[in-house]
Amino acid sequence: MRVRPRWDAGPVIAPEPRPARPDDGGDPACWARRVCPACGRLADQDPPTRCPGCGAELPDD
Ligand SMILES: [Zn+2]
Repeated sequence: MRVRPRWDAGPVIAPEPRPARPDDGGDPACWARRVCPACGRLADQDPPTRCPGCGAELPDD
């Protein structure tokens, strides 16, 4: 018969909290296209459009 050390039945490590859902309705790529390459501002709509800040064109690719 083996004698188990007392700490063998130590406290159970709490599971880590679940990370935020990566796909909570929006794909980051869809708004990344709206970022103005000139000033970094986020356009109000998907390209093709113009930057509301500096007026640079955001081409639709
Ligand atoms: Zn801009």
